[in-house]
Order: sequence, then structure tokens, then C-alpha cells
Amino acid sequence: MLKAKSALVTGATSGIGLAIARALAAEGCNIVFNGLGDGAEIEAHRRAMSEDFAVEAIYHGADLARPEEIPGLVEAAEAKFGGLDILVNNAGIQYVSPIDEFPIAKWDEIIAINLSASFHTIRAALPGMKRRDWGRIVNIASVNGLVASIDKSAYVAAKHGILGLTKTVMLEIAGFDITCNAICPGFVRTPLVERQIEARAAKHGLTMEDAVAEHLAEKHPSPKFVAAEEVAAFVVFLCGPAAAGINGAALPIDRGWLAR
Ligand code: NAD
Repeated sequence: MLKAKSALVTGATSGIGLAIARALAAEGCNIVFNGLGDGAEIEAHRRAMSEDFAVEAIYHGADLARPEEIPGLVEAAEAKFGGLDILVNNAGIQYVSPIDEFPIAKWDEIIAINLSASFHTIRAALPGMKRRDWGRIVNIASVNGLVASIDKSAYVAAKHGILGLTKTVMLEIAGFDITCNAICPGFVRTPLVERQIEARAAKHGLTMEDAVAEHLAEKHPSPKFVAAEEVAAFVVFLCGPAAAGINGAALPIDRGWLAR
């Protein structure tokens, strides 16, 4: 259903974003993907996406901490594919510390990448979506958009902010065939979470296996990770026709985290 649509996925050189970009490519979307990382690895991801699914995939290296670089992402999609149909705001970083020791620069960086960057991409993408009267915007928030976790003040604030942004955008585009929704995943085993598990193992002298079990048991009643591919499939669903009536929503995929 998404054949020949164009999609921009931020933070798609790793983890959930890479799974989303590949899932959209598998549906026939041409892809602009973004993120940091090693040039050769990024090129390997680009080539695999393009060859595995017979679509065009281009990489854009905008640093989302720099607002002036962000409109270039949307312009790249418009120049290459004639428009941007699907925008997935996925890039994000984490930092864990009590607030009274939280480095100010880390707060600023998290707010810039996890919140403000989505304002900038949406601002740049909406004029084209409105002109074509079609668009799908999916913001990758977190359960931390809905509930807090200790020592994650910047992350929790940014993710709560993303849900406010999602709802406001919905109100502004509700007269168009455009939707703007947020997905709220629980723990997905990506580098972002791996670092937290390593820190737990080091702090309490645990094996990685025990640290994983403890990490999950704290939050997931169903003691498994959410798979990046499950989040990606949810994005594909939200871009498809069956989801046209879902708008402005915060949608958990959390193995039960929010139920207790
Ligand atoms: P990850 O570390 O594997 O990937 C993060 C991506 O963001 C990478 O591609 C990285 O290069 C990119 N990025 C970081 N800083 C950037 C910058 N300045 N400019 C451009 N790109 C930048 O992490 P992930 O777990 O896949 O996280 C993806 C999203 O999912 C984040 O928004 C995160 O908050 C959210 N999320 C993750 C989990 C989880 O358990 N892993 C749970 C809920 C929500």
C-alpha cells in the first residue's frame, strides 16, 4: 500500500530507526535516512536497504542537535522523490543522572534531539504534505512520554513534550488526509538500553544476564524486550489505510509496563 511513497526516518543508522527504515522500504517506500555513525557502516545499510527491497535509499547526515541542518532532510526528500509523504521522528539519546547532578549541556542536548528536532522536521514537512493533502507523521516517544522514571529528567520531559507536540499537530492538520501519532515503546534492546544494562551490571556486580532480568522485571510484567521489528511494523500499520482514523494518539507497545 505504500509503494513509491517517500519516507524520512531520523536516527535510522541504528536500533529502532534502522528497523523502521527497512520495514518501510520493504513496503516499497523510497527512503531518506539519517543518523550518526561510521561512514562505511552507513553506506552498507543504505545499499542493503536499496538492494533488498528494490527501492531508492539516500542518507543525509544532518546533526539534529543543530536546527539549521534539519530542513535539509526534508529538502533532500523533496528534491530526490518530488515530495515527502511519511515522516518518522525517531532519533533520540538518553542520559541517566539525578537532576541535581544532571549536566546542563546534556539536558540541552536531549531537549534538542529528542524534542526540538521533531518540531523542526514537522515544520519543514507540513507545507508539502498539506499541498498534496496526504501525509503520515509518526513520532517515536516512549512509555516515558506517559509516566516518569527516576534519574531520566531530560528524557522524560522531552518525551512528554513529544506527546503534546503530537496532539497539537493533529489539531492543526485534522482537516487534511494527514495523521500525526506517537508510539510509546517499552524497553527495546538497542545500544541506548544496552548502556543502561551495562551500567546496572557494573554498579551491582551482576552478570549481563542477571542485569537484563532485573532491568526487565522492574518495568515489564511480561519479562521480555519489545522487538525493534515490532515497533517498525506498528509504524507501517500507522502509515497504511486501516489507520487513517487514528490521529493524535499516544500508542503504547510496552509488554504491559503501563498497566500496573
Ligand atoms: P539507538 O541509540 O540505537 O539509535 C539512536 C539513533 O539516533 C541512532 O541512529 C543515532 O545515530 C541517532 N542520533 C543520535 N543523536 C543524533 C543526532 N544528533 N543527529 C542525528 N541522529 C542522531 O537508540 P534506539 O533505542 O533505537 O532509540 C530510537 C528512539 O526510540 C529514541 O527516540 C528513543 O528514545 C526511543 N525509544 C527507545 C526505547 C528503547 O528501549 N530502546 C524505548 C522507548 C523509546
